[in-house]
Amino acid sequence: MIRFNKVLENIKTYEAGKPIELVVREFGIDAKDVVKLASNENPIGTNPAIAKVIRSNADIAHLYPDDSMFELKEALSAKFDIEDENIIIGAGSDQVLEFISRAVLHENASVLMSAVTFAMYEIYAKQMGAKIYRTASYEHKYDEFMEAYRMYKPEIIYLCTPNNPTGDATSKEDVLEIINAVDKETLVVVDGAYMEYAAAKDPAYAITPNDLLGFENVIYLGTFSKAHGLGGMRVGYGIAQAELISELYKMRPPFNISTLSLAVAIEACKNDDFVTKSITLHQEQIKRYEAFADEQGFKYIESYTNFITYLFDENMDSTYIADTLLKRGVIIRNLASYGMNAIRVTIGTEKQNDVFFKHFVEVIA
Ligand SMILES: *Cc1c(COP(=O)(O)O)cnc(C)c1O
Repeated sequence: MIRFNKVLENIKTYEAGKPIELVVREFGIDAKDVVKLASNENPIGTNPAIAKVIRSNADIAHLYPDDSMFELKEALSAKFDIEDENIIIGAGSDQVLEFISRAVLHENASVLMSAVTFAMYEIYAKQMGAKIYRTASYEHKYDEFMEAYRMYKPEIIYLCTPNNPTGDATSKEDVLEIINAVDKETLVVVDGAYMEYAAAKDPAYAITPNDLLGFENVIYLGTFSKAHGLGGMRVGYGIAQAELISELYKMRPPFNISTLSLAVAIEACKNDDFVTKSITLHQEQIKRYEAFADEQGFKYIESYTNFITYLFDENMDSTYIADTLLKRGVIIRNLASYGMNAIRVTIGTEKQNDVFFKHFVEVIA
């Protein structure tokens, strides 16, 4: 028997949204009839300008990518008005989370996060043998965070705004209040994976990396996976003071971002039109989800993201609903594993949403 690291004993493998292929295989549904609204992907698809960049890089697969990531750092520096030394790039912001965890945590360390938030914070912390503390609410409430902070003095506090999988957000003022109240020995991670959506909805919720760069113990995380529609390319970033970034660099494997991924992320930085178009479509379509819940008489969490979380009472069971929709070729996220009788639905295109509503009405009838 291999003697695995004992930390593995209480780690549950991360369960990603179900892929379209699985529904095709298990339920014999045609791939073109499957609607996937489970992974918060951009429903518009691939920006044609990005597809062009991928094609034009077709002949350089034999070369290692530029490990300095100079051009992408320049593009991000210009976008956010920061310096190259403030940036670390990961294979998704997930990889930056992993660097952070490995750089800061150990067996006697602990982390603090909200009751329901991004699953990877816990998984990475457990990999390091660290303890997990959660506040009582899924919202990021100052009093709850401060009480737990004073009690446990965690090495890391995660503030996910907007929060996944709930969709709510924390205002810039409230985030700064928490940051200002903790001492410099605690690292505060502000995960802004959906920040583009929140910023477009309400400027009071818009946080930029620059807002946080004055704090030595804060890192801002962003990603190209959501509003930029590049989930398949795996590029995210962390932005912080240079000293913190250079420590995280010690955890980075060489060439962690592929040539194609670098090229498309550089293009995406120049191309705000696609994000604007995505957000406009999203804002039109999410109104239908809100109106639908109101008509049907169930609750939802007001969303600052590209998905909406529907909350059910005891007359409705999220597991039954998710399983039945899946058999009909509609993939959404069941939040039962987060302890919520709720589902999370990524807002799709008009057509995809039509399909969702058609089946959903029948399933809940
Ligand atoms: C999607 C997501 C990420 C990371 O996505 P990557 O594809 O790894 O960049 C990070 N945090 C939250 C809250 C997310 O929802």
